[in-house]
Amino acid sequence: MHYDHIIVGAGSMGVAAGYFLAKKGQNVLLLDAFNPPHDHASHHGETRLIRYAYGEGLYYVPMALRAKELWEQLQRQTDETIFHQTGIVNIGYKDHPFMNNVIASAKQFDLPLEVLSADEIQEKWAGIHIPKKLIGCFEPTSGVLRVENCIRSYRTLAEKEGATIRTNSKVVAVRSVGDIVEVELATGERFTANTAIISVGAWAKQLLHSLALDLPLNPIRKTFAWYEAEEALYDQQNFPGFAFDFDGEAYYGFPSIDGAGLKIGRHDGGDSINPDEARVPFGDIVEDKSDLDAFLQTYMPKVGPMKFGKTCMYSMTPDEDFIIDRHPNHSNITIAAGFSGHGFKFASVVGEILSDLAMNEKPQFDLTPFSINRFK
Ligand SMILES: Cc1cc2nc3c(=O)[nH]c(=O)nc-3n(C[C@H](O)[C@H](O)[C@H](O)COP(=O)(O)OP(=O)(O)OC[C@H]3O[C@@H](n4cnc5c(N)ncnc54)[C@H](O)[C@@H]3O)c2cc1C
Repeated sequence: MHYDHIIVGAGSMGVAAGYFLAKKGQNVLLLDAFNPPHDHASHHGETRLIRYAYGEGLYYVPMALRAKELWEQLQRQTDETIFHQTGIVNIGYKDHPFMNNVIASAKQFDLPLEVLSADEIQEKWAGIHIPKKLIGCFEPTSGVLRVENCIRSYRTLAEKEGATIRTNSKVVAVRSVGDIVEVELATGERFTANTAIISVGAWAKQLLHSLALDLPLNPIRKTFAWYEAEEALYDQQNFPGFAFDFDGEAYYGFPSIDGAGLKIGRHDGGDSINPDEARVPFGDIVEDKSDLDAFLQTYMPKVGPMKFGKTCMYSMTPDEDFIIDRHPNHSNITIAAGFSGHGFKFASVVGEILSDLAMNEKPQFDLTPFSINRFK
């Protein structure tokens, strides 16, 4: 069967792209190896932080602000909860590049941001205990996205707009055949389209080999866990999302949302893995728990014991910037990959950008930082 567009991978980025293309009246097929949202890839675990004053680089800010508008639009179109405005506090050293970028983004884009001393942080949130040498940047408009709700909502809307989604349909090859693209499933079934978007998360490196492209992508195992926490100190009304980044270590976390407990994960580190192999379960590696426990004992000592933990995957690029670009030899194939552990907040805007690229329309953002040829 022939489509206008085939989207391979209907996870965070793919499902949003499917919605925007279907909304433009395009005939779209989304193929996914599982049944999104699911817990086999990079988009499970209830919550993702969304910040706009961006430590990773100022060029992300316009995209983050457009993402915010699109999440708000999604919220108006669904009964599911998309966003909790908890605010997020970034904590680190005063002159650390990440903190400098946060402050510079707020200045350049006129974003509300409170720069706080360690004492002011502890006064504001009795659940945090930090040494005087650290500062905090609190962005009150930022907060928490409900990751599975976002994906489910975009999926429902895409289907309402006429997109077809085939679940449990693993793609094993994507080929450029003249002006069209042919996609082959593990079952041997084939589909064609005028364009294809490849948004398979941690599987991108291996699938792109079928298109003679070898990108420096590294899937890694990540862990996160929920802890017992006194609601008066740590719930979503009283406690912000947080990102600590100093001395080569980075931890992030979420207030207790709807009584779930405080959730925390370590952003740096993690072992390279093959996404097709079963992940080592949470807790089988001693540091899964001991790293998180040690962080909380030091900086949030009023948090209680761990409830349970889970594993997930990041797909890293060497510079931790994303890949959003057309295939260098096939302009009708667009690639969205390497979201390096900070991509979900952008899924709405990345979906919109991918739909523009697939329709040969000019995206409203400078995509140079996300180009494939930067790796040459
Ligand atoms: C623990 C953790 C915490 C995170 N925290 C944050 C955060 O706070 N804020 C933030 O912005 N980001 C965060 N991220 C990052 C963010 O979740 C990811 O960057 C984002 O989900 C990646 O989206 P994706 O579409 O590339 O991959 P996915 O959402 O994983 O989608 C890929 C899809 O492709 C499908 N697929 C794979 N191979 C095939 C194939 N061969 N054929 C068909 N389908 C296939 C998969 O089944 C999957 O559904 C976090 C990630 C993790 C793991």
